[in-house]
Amino acid sequence: MTLTRRDFAKLGTLTLAAGFAPLLHAQPSAKKTGYAVIGLGRIAGHFMPGARNTTNSQITALVSGHRDKADRIAAEYGIPSSSIYNYENFDEIAHNPAVDAVYVALPNSMHAEYTIRAAKAGKHVLCEKPMSTNVADAEAMIAACKAANVKLMIAYRCHYEPTNLRAVKLIRDGALGQVQAIESSFGFNMGPNEWRTNKKLAGGGPLFDVGIYCLNACRYLTGEEPEHIAAFASTIDHDGRFSEVEENVSWTMKFPSGIVASCNTTYGAPMEGYYRVHGAKGWLEVDQAFVYEGLRLRADFSGTQLDEPNPARDPSQFQAEAEHFSHCVQNNLEPQSPGEEGLRDMGYITQIYRSAGIAI
Ligand code: NAD
Repeated sequence: MTLTRRDFAKLGTLTLAAGFAPLLHAQPSAKKTGYAVIGLGRIAGHFMPGARNTTNSQITALVSGHRDKADRIAAEYGIPSSSIYNYENFDEIAHNPAVDAVYVALPNSMHAEYTIRAAKAGKHVLCEKPMSTNVADAEAMIAACKAANVKLMIAYRCHYEPTNLRAVKLIRDGALGQVQAIESSFGFNMGPNEWRTNKKLAGGGPLFDVGIYCLNACRYLTGEEPEHIAAFASTIDHDGRFSEVEENVSWTMKFPSGIVASCNTTYGAPMEGYYRVHGAKGWLEVDQAFVYEGLRLRADFSGTQLDEPNPARDPSQFQAEAEHFSHCVQNNLEPQSPGEEGLRDMGYITQIYRSAGIAI
C-alpha cells in the first residue's frame, strides 16, 4: 500500500490530536515492563539508565553482536546470561516471559527487520527515529505490529520533553497570535568511519539523522501537515566522508494556514538544534531544542518576556519516553508517537529528497 498526500494529512490530524494531549503520569506498576535492548551503542547508553530511573520499566534482555559488551552491561543491570541474545538467535526472545517490549537502537535501515521480527515474537516495539529508510518499510512495520496485536512507538523523545511541550502549549494558547514563520536547524560535524555516511545503513545524510527533529518540530509546533515542500541538497566538503550521502539539506515547507518553515541540517558544521517561531504578537525560541539537556525557552510577546532554562539532566528525556511507552503497554493505550507518526515523517523526507533531486 502506498499512502497518498491526503492519507498523510489525515494521519497527521489523528496523531497530532492525540500526540499533544496532556501526558499521563505513569503510576508505579505491580509488574514493570521488561525491555530487550537491540544494539548496544550510544543511544542505548542513554535509554538504559533512563528506563532504570522509572518506576514502571526495566531492562531485562540484551541483543548484541559483541558478547563481551553485552556481559558487562548485563552485570550492571542484573540481566541473566540466558537473556543475552545475538542477531541470529534473536527470535528465541519469543519464549522469554521477562521481555514484554523491544527497544530497537540499531542503524536506521535495520529498524524495519528487527521491528518486524520483534512483532512476530509477540513483543511490543519502541523503535528509534528515523523509523526506517523508506515509506514501504515503515508501512510494513506498522502492518506487522498490527497483525501481531503489539504496540509500536517511535522514540520521538521531544514529544515527551517539557520545554518542547511548553512551546507547543504557548502557541496553541495563542500567545504568539497567528504564527507566520518558523526557522529550525540541527546538525553536527561528522567524524570519519561512521555508519551514518553509509547510504545502505543510514538511508541518506543528516536529514534522516538530525534534520528529522526540525521537520517533526515544525509539525508539532504548527499542529499542521506541510502541503508544499521545496528543497536543496549539497556536498561542499570533498574529503571523502560524503561519497554516499549528501552533507547538507535545506528545505522549506508551506503549511495549509500559510505558515512557512525554513529548515537546515548538516553533517559539516556544529549547527545548534534550535527553532524560532514568529507570530503576529511576538516570537518564541528554544535553544538546544533537540538535545538531551540544557534546553532554554525564550519568548517576547504582547509585553511578556520569558526566559526559561530547563534544569533537567540526561537521561530524564529517556526516562519520560520509557515511562510513557510502558504505561501504554500496561494499560493498553495508544502511544502519543505511534508508528503512523514515523511513517508520516518518512513521507515528507521522501518529498524533500525528491525536491532536492536525490533518489532514496
Ligand atoms: P551507534 O553506532 O552508537 O550504535 C549502533 C549499534 O548497532 C551498535 O551497538 C552496533 O554494534 C550495532 N550494529 C549492529 N549491526 C550494525 C551494523 N551493520 N553497522 C553498525 N552498527 C551495527 O549508533 P547510535 O548513535 O546509537 O544510533 C542508533 C539509532 O538510534 C539510529 O537509528 C539513530 O538515528 C538513533 N538515535 C537516536 C537518538 C535520539 O536522541 N533519539 C540519538 C542518537 C541516535
